[in-house]
Amino acid sequence: QYDYSYDARCDVWSLVFNFFSDFEARPSVTHLLEHPFIKQAQGKDVALQQQLAALILEQQEAGCKTKTKHERINTRKTLIIERYNLVDAVCVFLSLLQETIISHLQKRYDELQVYTYVGDILIALNPFQNLSIYSPQFSKLYHGMKRADNPPHIFATADAAYRGMVTFCKDQCIIISGESGAGKTESAHLIVQHLTFLGKANNRTLREKILQVNPLVEAFGNACTAINDNSSRFGKYLEMKFTPTGAVIGAKISEYLLEKSRVIKQATGEKNFHIFYYIYAGLYHQDKLKTYSLPDRTPPRYIDSQHRTVMQDIVSSKLYKEQFDAIQEGFRNIGFTEEEVNSVYRILSAILNTGNIEFASITTQHQTDKSEVPNAEALETAASLLSIGPEELQEALTSQCVVTRGETIIRTNTVDKAADVRDAMSKALYGRLFSWIVNRINSLLQPDMNICGMNVGILDIFGFENFKKNSFEQLCINIANEQIQFYFNQHIFALEQMEYQSEGVDASLVEYEDNRPILDMFLQKPMGLLSLMDEESRFPQATDQTLVDKFEDNLRCKYFWIPKRVELCFGIQHYAGKVMYNVNGFLEKNRDTLPADIVVVLRTSENKLLQQLFSSPLTKTGRLRQLSMKNIEMKTIAETNRGITIQSPQKKNGNGNFSLRQTVVDTMEMMRHPEETTSMRRQTVASYFRYSLMDLLSKMVVGQPHFVRCIKPNDDRQALRFCKERVMVQLRYTGILETVNIRRQGYSHRITFEEFVNRYYYLAFRAHQMPETSRENAVAILQRAKLEGWVLGTTKVFLRYYHVEQLNLLLREV
Ligand code: ATP
Ligand code: MG
Repeated sequence: QYDYSYDARCDVWSLVFNFFSDFEARPSVTHLLEHPFIKQAQGKDVALQQQLAALILEQQEAGCKTKTKHERINTRKTLIIERYNLVDAVCVFLSLLQETIISHLQKRYDELQVYTYVGDILIALNPFQNLSIYSPQFSKLYHGMKRADNPPHIFATADAAYRGMVTFCKDQCIIISGESGAGKTESAHLIVQHLTFLGKANNRTLREKILQVNPLVEAFGNACTAINDNSSRFGKYLEMKFTPTGAVIGAKISEYLLEKSRVIKQATGEKNFHIFYYIYAGLYHQDKLKTYSLPDRTPPRYIDSQHRTVMQDIVSSKLYKEQFDAIQEGFRNIGFTEEEVNSVYRILSAILNTGNIEFASITTQHQTDKSEVPNAEALETAASLLSIGPEELQEALTSQCVVTRGETIIRTNTVDKAADVRDAMSKALYGRLFSWIVNRINSLLQPDMNICGMNVGILDIFGFENFKKNSFEQLCINIANEQIQFYFNQHIFALEQMEYQSEGVDASLVEYEDNRPILDMFLQKPMGLLSLMDEESRFPQATDQTLVDKFEDNLRCKYFWIPKRVELCFGIQHYAGKVMYNVNGFLEKNRDTLPADIVVVLRTSENKLLQQLFSSPLTKTGRLRQLSMKNIEMKTIAETNRGITIQSPQKKNGNGNFSLRQTVVDTMEMMRHPEETTSMRRQTVASYFRYSLMDLLSKMVVGQPHFVRCIKPNDDRQALRFCKERVMVQLRYTGILETVNIRRQGYSHRITFEEFVNRYYYLAFRAHQMPETSRENAVAILQRAKLEGWVLGTTKVFLRYYHVEQLNLLLREV
């Protein structure tokens, strides 16, 4: 059998890791980093470094002289076991540990070995080129093998999760993290690919359906950003469902926090969601741009507000067209009806036409600040695509129903306000359409209710972002990443704690530093950043400046600061680095208001899908409640229904269009009703976001986690370019090096009594005595060595790193 661990190409780094895995309490990177010798070596002790480095070389040479590979391995092991000093030697050799890891990764990267294990974690370097290691042959190669049997691979991680599920009958979850463009989404695809292979989907259609889920959802949820051409603009948790024997039977997606604002505006150099471009190219090819009334002279404002794109470039893009074909195929295969797909395209086109609606101000004798629509064509097209009346739409865009002290007033919208309402409508349309697609996929891929199965969840969220200018969206994305990092820390820590507990050692002794304070600063109630923002969002008079002031007055935390010379900005020290946020538009984005007038008009649509999307103005609240109390699903639906069944009294108010207006008033009244307020109060993005995170975590914690850390080797998306500094930074903050902090305070060495006595008995007994390897003798040694602060478990001695240092020094003196 091929033992990768001792492959000649592996340098001492993997040698050390694999070697240690045979040892008792397997030291982790943490151990090595923490090791006093490393610290010493990192200091000035050049002589010691050289001495120990020589030892390593000696050991390596000895290993090479022997004949067979097997013998070579054994020789190495004996050598190392015989000479405990060598452990230190290895540590010193790794004293430039970071350097070593980095150069090891670099060497492997140069050879297109993009995967490496560090402990239980898989590091995946983005190759930025297509590799030929993902074919079905590779899936076979990794099927049910020991980890050491093959080179590290993402399939091995998927395989481990699958086996964990089948063997222990326990749900699994694979958590993929890394910054934007690091390769999370690609990794997620590869995991799904291998899991469908393992899940022996005997039903070929099901396999195809599952494989098409990701590309379909991503067409709607991914976009080209300054960092990544296929950047996920939503978080995705895909659960693959299996029978107890491991046959795949279905899938379910949960989506989190789609960046809806992208629909109406994109930063310079960025694009709207992929699907808008795909439909242009695809429908143009089928000569159907007219059928769907897609503006075809110039690109609509929503996809090109700065007039930088030429229509021809979009419609003639081969890539877009191919993607469109794939999406259509996906829709059909998964089971969407023709009518549904048509409606989806109509709504997308309606959004683009809506974006083209302009407003101009008109001043009459009686009314100021009124706006009208000078380009009726866009409005009419949008209305027709949405199957609603153009007058009603115009009315809802340019005026608003307000109820004050029991009186209903119709207020006209200024040009700016009307444009805001228009954009709010587009965002709502897209957001709800996206959720609907996801829900529809879920219902089509739902396994038979009678099978009690298990699942493997795959988490692929938007990666940590730090642009030149960061806004509300980046804040949410980065908080989500902060939460995932916290979970990672918790898990690594929890394992440690479990060992303490099983040994009967007080687990509270384990102190560790983590990113909890930053998370608390964001999420705490009522003084956390999100709560403060919510509070400010409730004041109509609040401005972005008052928001910054509020932050400044209330957030006392070293992770938060307000820069002196930059206006409307605040800085956060995230686990992954400092980010400066620009508060411009924070409040509005957080409020995410959709006037009741718009909801009511959209509900009059004759389009079935649209009716469904807007059947409840409170979808968000409805979903929120589902999240917090899953078992009240029925109640939620009932509430939602109440939202639908508002009857509009038929009374004239001389204002035309009375019934619609009355419904608006009723809807608003209902929202004001005291007993409804708690559940139906308008939810802000921040509070919804908080619940989403809760929901996500609740899903993740039930599973056995596996971690994949994606690393971006350079910022230019170049193949074979390895930027040491960038990799170093990511290794550090993703926890590969940073995990040290978590464990530094703990008992990093846990040695069985037997091992301990065998190793250190010289310190308390005579060489020929060979004492019994008992707990008492271990204590005798510890006392003789005059160590303080160690702890005894039921089978192990728990030591701090400096204890081991002292013991080893004493050994040398003997
Ligand atoms: P975001 O957080 O922005 O969504 P991400 O981490 O999901 O980023 P991906 O979209 O998965 O990043 O990867 C970015 C690009 O890197 C891909 O479009 C692809 O070109 C390349 N890439 C990533 N992983 C691989 C791989 N295993 N093989 C080949 N190319 C890859
Ligand atoms: Mg992604």
